Amino acid sequence: MTPIGFIGLGNMGKPMARNLLKAGYPLVVYDVRQGPVEELSALGAERGTSPRDVAARTSIAITMLPSGRDVEAVALEDGGLKEGFRPGSVYIDMSTVSPATARKIAHALATKEVAVLDAPVSRGQEGAVKGTLSIMVGGEREVFERCLDIFKILGTDIFYCGESGMGAVHKLVNNLIQGTITGAVAEGLVLGVKAGADLETLIAVLAASSANNYVLQHFFPAKALRGDFAPGGTVDILQKDLGLAVALGSELGVPMLFASLSHQVYSLLHGRALGDRDFTAIITLLEEAAGVEVRLRTESGRPSP
Ligand code: NAD
Repeated sequence: MTPIGFIGLGNMGKPMARNLLKAGYPLVVYDVRQGPVEELSALGAERGTSPRDVAARTSIAITMLPSGRDVEAVALEDGGLKEGFRPGSVYIDMSTVSPATARKIAHALATKEVAVLDAPVSRGQEGAVKGTLSIMVGGEREVFERCLDIFKILGTDIFYCGESGMGAVHKLVNNLIQGTITGAVAEGLVLGVKAGADLETLIAVLAASSANNYVLQHFFPAKALRGDFAPGGTVDILQKDLGLAVALGSELGVPMLFASLSHQVYSLLHGRALGDRDFTAIITLLEEAAGVEVRLRTESGRPSP
């Protein structure tokens, strides 16, 4: 199988890389942190010494990095992927970046005859671990089709969204809705529990009613409602995504009422030193104000006292 380069082995990238290895793809991995590189190398991945080295040893490279700035640095700066790629190589950036960043990188690499896909993902760390991500892809359709076998290992719902930058557009729309819903779910659960609702019953009612959504069904019960705020996706990552959505709205003349409010709330959490916590930590702000804790008991499903 074609060797694949994988750069950015964090909350998302590490389990994604592991799934590619399990499926039999030889991998060359790189991260500025040595811990996850060692874990993957123990599973059979080879270590790259720089993004340039990773690109030179593979014909397809994937990145899963925190921000557009990191992606530009890894792709285009000295020692970056661009210097190592050969004509005909494919670069898939699966990070969440602005459509403008995705287009800028595609344009810069076209000069080396490297095809670029922006392929951001959704469904969080659980989706990355289980290989059930949704993946939204921008770039040339023919390149997308060539990469489908790889996408099918990482995810279960894979969409071609149009030209370069359109994967990023779909992802930002998703995350502005997700970020806004997260605040509404937290507020609703705090209100319900403070008013005397049994948390399990409340969640069951909402899941069967018009307020049902993925954040309510997956993200909150898996962690925050069990008092676990270790990140699947951090406050800072969602704050970045909401900022990108607000900026895209300003660029296009679209009012961003709800995204702006959510962006500010996540900035507030960052200011309270919760930036590295899971994004569901938004509930702690409301719990503190309301003087109530919204927790499931793992064994009985009943709220903590
Ligand atoms: P993370 O911070 O956990 O991981 C990022 C990794 O990139 C880290 O291991 C870091 O050391 C590495 N890194 C940073 N700069 C680097 C560089 N210059 N060279 C090499 N490695 C570098 O972030 P994450 O939660 O895995 O998110 C990654 C991307 O996926 C982000 O763009 C995020 O918006 C997107 N995303 C995250 C989630 C989620 O739930 N966590 C869900 C969907 C999409």
